[in-house]
Amino acid sequence: MTEQERISFLRQELAKHNYNYYVKDAPTISDFEFDKLLEELISLEKKHPELFDASSPSQRVGGEITKDFTTVQHKTRMMSLGNTYSKEEIEDFINRIKKSIETPVEFICELKYDGVAISIIYKNGILHQAITRGDGTQGDDITANVKTIRSIPLKLQGDFPDELEIRGEIFMTLDGFKKLNEDRVEAGFETFANPRNSASGTLKMQDSAIVAKRPLDSFLYFVIAPEAGFSSHQQSLEAATKWGFKVPQAKNNFVRLARDADEIQAFIDSWEHKRHDLPFEIDGIVIKVNDYKTQRLLGETAKSPRWAIAYKYKAEQVQTKLLSVSYQVGRTGAITPVANLQPVLLAGTTVKRASLHNADQIALHDLYINDQVYLEKGGEIIPKIVGVNLAERPADAFKIEYITNCPECGTPLVREEGEAKHFCPNELGCPPQQKGKIEHFISRKAMNIDGLGAETVETFFSKNLIKNYADLYNLKAEELMQLEGFQEKSVQNILAGLEASEQIPFDRVLYALGIRFVGETVAKKLARHYKSLDALMAATKDELIEVDEIGEKIATSVIQFFNQPENKDLIARMKTTGVQLEMQLEEAISNKLEGKKIVVSGVFENFERNDLKKLIEQNGGINVGSVSGKTDFVLAGEGMGPSKLAKAEKLGVSIVSEAEFVKMIGL
Ligand SMILES: [Zn+2]
Repeated sequence: MTEQERISFLRQELAKHNYNYYVKDAPTISDFEFDKLLEELISLEKKHPELFDASSPSQRVGGEITKDFTTVQHKTRMMSLGNTYSKEEIEDFINRIKKSIETPVEFICELKYDGVAISIIYKNGILHQAITRGDGTQGDDITANVKTIRSIPLKLQGDFPDELEIRGEIFMTLDGFKKLNEDRVEAGFETFANPRNSASGTLKMQDSAIVAKRPLDSFLYFVIAPEAGFSSHQQSLEAATKWGFKVPQAKNNFVRLARDADEIQAFIDSWEHKRHDLPFEIDGIVIKVNDYKTQRLLGETAKSPRWAIAYKYKAEQVQTKLLSVSYQVGRTGAITPVANLQPVLLAGTTVKRASLHNADQIALHDLYINDQVYLEKGGEIIPKIVGVNLAERPADAFKIEYITNCPECGTPLVREEGEAKHFCPNELGCPPQQKGKIEHFISRKAMNIDGLGAETVETFFSKNLIKNYADLYNLKAEELMQLEGFQEKSVQNILAGLEASEQIPFDRVLYALGIRFVGETVAKKLARHYKSLDALMAATKDELIEVDEIGEKIATSVIQFFNQPENKDLIARMKTTGVQLEMQLEEAISNKLEGKKIVVSGVFENFERNDLKKLIEQNGGINVGSVSGKTDFVLAGEGMGPSKLAKAEKLGVSIVSEAEFVKMIGL
């Protein structure tokens, strides 16, 4: 097999496995095998740039940057459906249709996915363009981001029409959403409110490589393909399934043919409760006339088609008594008020607590202790209070006074401008914050210390054995053995885990230090750029901002962290341990770019941007984010930002092409 043949074989093979995994949910090879094949394809494609194919499975990893999303006209308007919460109105809808159409009418019932509407155009079986709904007439071109979603085919199978448009919904699974928010909490970012918000936020990100890492999924179920000659909606769904789309299937009861109001009602009822068990969110049922000719006869109003309607489920609501409010202090010092409730059954579980989020939420509902409150279960796992039954406010009810001091350490709380939450500023002396920092330090993605967990940290902390993470490295076997429940074996485990943590690379150590806004990715960037903790600590704010992708907020936080005397002590003590406080430089290839400050901009033919940045570092160069007088050169690809180009020209900074760069480092 020639390399060219191998490339085309791997592309077919990977597309097939991708389909089996993400569309059919029936993988036939392991993730490891899949990754190996993908790696092989990527390296062969790098060797053969002349064989580039925009629909190669290697394109799923993203990397394309979109600064401004282009506005595109929809060929056919994306209409929204009429909505109702009432079953009577569904009956009216059916009767109206039956009155105007003489022959028996068939309906199709579908789930109403709570995601982001999308329209995707295929030309000759290749994904050509993906457009958001926008205002229905025109939307944004988000093709680069949509191409990273594994369940959306880049290339169609079987007998497809030359031109076709398919519409549906992109959403985030509940599991994926939960994990994403956990990661964000760990990195000190605000969490997303619900899966739909996080899906729509993700689709509008500029860097498709980040989109590729987010757990987005899709259902596509509305085909526009006049030349295919379908006579019904059902027929088009069957064809779309064959073309390789992830189409809702009757075998899962996600779609059902119905002949009358009773059958439609039965479908609605069947999902009333079961919808809570789905791995994604739906907010209702859509009922459509199946036959295309009948659809055309019925026509449309200015806003929505007359042949379809959406039934929305009312969020289940119960009433119960608000007994008290307690306040939780998080790892970052953020205060979260929690409502303690008279236990009540809601959507199948007994609820005793509800999150109140922040002081504004309490003020919004004008909550009193002893009030009768309405509870709802939305996308979040913890239910929320959506209102107060004022008619039943008892005489002994009294207004909630928001706390002014930290419930854990007594420090007066602060609320920064623009922040929804109150914070306890006593970062270094407030027990939950101290413990939280240690827990973060030992966590899997940070120092990954075996034998230590939240409970052990709690025990050591309460026995005054540790106050911060540096103390961990002073723990002695003798003192641990004296604690109740600690055997020689578990103590040895802990000490071995601590010793092993000395092998953890510098970028993860930097992440483990718990600097606000320095998550995993930022820690990697800073570690690669500065190479050692000493160099990072010596950096000024302006220098930090000059680092690629580091902004004002992160720079300020880094400076503040290292300026605090307590943190200075902590770092001094960390230096006495064997923990890695500088990069291991085994990766270096040459010093051909020694000390050169380089800006990478645009899209490249043979390399991903991140690979170029890595090459720059491996050859001794330094990546910087913006062009200045100190920049040595700009490595420019296609579509380099015009403002960068103008600035480089004005400052006389030279522009280097991809080919020149390859020559420069002698690849
Ligand atoms: Zn406190």
